[in-house]
Amino acid sequence: MSNDLLWKVPEGEHVKLKKYDPDYVHPSFKRDGAEETLGNLGKEMGELQELLSAAQHHSLLMVLQGMDTSGKDGTIRHVFSQVNPQGCHVVSFKVPTPEEAAHDFLWRIHNAVPPKGVMGIFNRSQYEDVLVVRVHNLVPEDVWKRRYKEINHFEKLLADNGTIILKFFLHISQDEQTARLQARINDKDKAWKISSSDFAERKYWDDYQKAYEDALSQCSTDEAPWYIVPANHKWYRNLVIAQTLVDTMRKYKDEWKADLEERGRKELAALQQLRASNEVKGL
Ligand code: AMP
Ligand code: MG
Repeated sequence: MSNDLLWKVPEGEHVKLKKYDPDYVHPSFKRDGAEETLGNLGKEMGELQELLSAAQHHSLLMVLQGMDTSGKDGTIRHVFSQVNPQGCHVVSFKVPTPEEAAHDFLWRIHNAVPPKGVMGIFNRSQYEDVLVVRVHNLVPEDVWKRRYKEINHFEKLLADNGTIILKFFLHISQDEQTARLQARINDKDKAWKISSSDFAERKYWDDYQKAYEDALSQCSTDEAPWYIVPANHKWYRNLVIAQTLVDTMRKYKDEWKADLEERGRKELAALQQLRASNEVKGL
């Protein structure tokens, strides 16, 4: 289902972002009722998270990338509103600290990946090292060029060790970015969101789009797929990301439940033995 709602990038695909409409809305989702649908998806996500957490078999890693104002923060706020905060771990990656910069680019990322049972959310990620770093020539070309392969190896390692990985690119148009920045200027209550660097970055729009195309083309794999999310409509963006997360987690539901039932049986059997030997008082 989710492939009609948004676009999963097939391994080896040469992505041209112009071919993907940031305004796209699948006819099965309507603006009216979107909140209720998101509420239902959120409830199911909460239940699935409880199983993920209890089964301790897998971790889940969601990577969020997108241009400034594309809605990374808003997505986290809305999509995870019904998930138990105890089972969630959000990490926002900023300009590397001196300590981070003194290590390889994946050092800080690996340190932040979710352990088994946890849903990890990356607000920006290892991909900044082939995006902002490339656009601003922060390292030589031969260094950023080999990072695509290094990222693929790293993500394979995580997947081999039980991490379910989903990567979402929030695709907005330049006009939509203009409108969102303008809204921040016009609305005094939103002015705190203004970051002068977002305005300065706008002139690099085309360079960023090109850098995103390469990251999406070179780093979408079966074990760590990229999804292009039509993100001009915030309500739609939230719905399709929630739907994709739920669809993905549902595939593991039976496995997690079977595991928990088995554990429950073992615990009950152990308790019965204790009772038989009269070591449990009052039960
Ligand atoms: P924000 O997400 O608005 O808090 O901004 C975080 C800033 O950190 C953005 O401008 C990113 O491009 C920047 N950033 C994140 N990771 C890196 C990196 N590896 N190298 C350079 N800048 C980065
Ligand atoms: Mg920003």
